[in-house]
Amino acid sequence: MNDKNANPLVLITGASRGLGRCLAVAGAKRAHRLALTARDAAGLERLAAGLRQEHGCEVQCFPGDLSLPGLAQQCARLVEDSMGAPDVLINNAGIGWWRSFLDHSDEDHDRLIDLNFRAVVHLTHALLPAMTQRGHGHIINIASDLADRPLGNMTVYTATKHALRGFSHSLSQEVRPLGIKVSLLNPGMIDTSFHTMEEGSLDEAVALKPGPLAELVMTMLEQPGHQVVDEMTVHATRQDY
Ligand code: NAP
Repeated sequence: MNDKNANPLVLITGASRGLGRCLAVAGAKRAHRLALTARDAAGLERLAAGLRQEHGCEVQCFPGDLSLPGLAQQCARLVEDSMGAPDVLINNAGIGWWRSFLDHSDEDHDRLIDLNFRAVVHLTHALLPAMTQRGHGHIINIASDLADRPLGNMTVYTATKHALRGFSHSLSQEVRPLGIKVSLLNPGMIDTSFHTMEEGSLDEAVALKPGPLAELVMTMLEQPGHQVVDEMTVHATRQDY
């Protein structure tokens, strides 16, 4: 762990369900302090209450729609004001739909770009100054195995994940000398409620389970200070890709 604090503060976006929820559970098990965000305020509060009760960790929720203008910056300010500057930012929130490019509306495309990419840039930009001031911090971006290949019918989603990959590696070059690590995770299909799926409905051979994947993300944080995982791609063994 590169963090100097005994109990690092981890901000997780998209924490109300799916992989983000499992990241919160994995962080709580390690006694990390947690700042959780997503739109579902009641779901976040239920999760936070369970984590406090089971793990005794500090958890606060900052509900909001990160695709709206100014929300990422506002979320960063609220977290810093009430919990202090995060040591770790996990940019996990993301949406996508399987349909042809023309069957998406311009509003759909804006939501994809605004949440999957613009919010990541703004949240990272808002939180980096405190990290650079302290000379440590870790940004983990959850992209996709589509971050370096094409997939028709998920055209703009795929483009946002390509953008996230370019952003991660380029930012890493800038901030690594300042003591900040940037890591990228490219999962294959995950058994969550992403798109229109029902969480827990897929066989583990074809779709990654979010719990073990979240544990893998924690290992990125647990590398020695002089070592960084730049990028990791993970698939279920029988995913057709
Ligand atoms: P998920 O189960 O659908 O969860 C998405 C999370 O993002 C939820 O907590 C959701 O909470 C939040 N979210 C959605 N819209 C939001 C908004 N406008 N503002 C703030 N939060 C919002 O998806 P997942 O499978 O866990 O996906 C996690 C990440 O993995 C995403 O970046 C996704 O692109 C990536 N990924 C997923 C798969 C897959 O097959 N599932 C594969 C590769 C990569 P609310 O609805 O409460 O806002």
